[in-house]
Amino acid sequence: MRVTKQRTAILDFLRSRRQHYSAVQIYDAVRVNIPNISLGTVYRNLASLIEDGEIISVETSDKCVYYDGFISDHAHFVCSDCKQIYDFPIEIGTTEPEKSGFKVEKSRVVYYGLCNSCKNNK
Ligand SMILES: [Zn+2]
Ligand SMILES: [Zn+2]
Repeated sequence: MRVTKQRTAILDFLRSRRQHYSAVQIYDAVRVNIPNISLGTVYRNLASLIEDGEIISVETSDKCVYYDGFISDHAHFVCSDCKQIYDFPIEIGTTEPEKSGFKVEKSRVVYYGLCNSCKNNK
């Protein structure tokens, strides 16, 4: 794997905040320091970072993909209304498969629904 300054910039951006960003948002942020970067390069780097386990992705109910630099096991809650993505802890060791004796190595749980503020605005 080739470490380029583009790849490093994307990874640094995602790792330095606990938020979930779309490829376009990442592109806009990284472009500040690397003006000649293309959206295609951003997509390519994101795909390779996922493959290498450096970042994870979450899909919203309308198929938009968001990227997350926080890769410790956690569940995602995606609000179908405001599209906000929330992190929730997952405790490996107490999951349902483990209660059946299975060995869980990583988890990617996504819940879809309405967050508190959207639920109360209904
Ligand atoms: Zn919401
Ligand atoms: Zn997350």
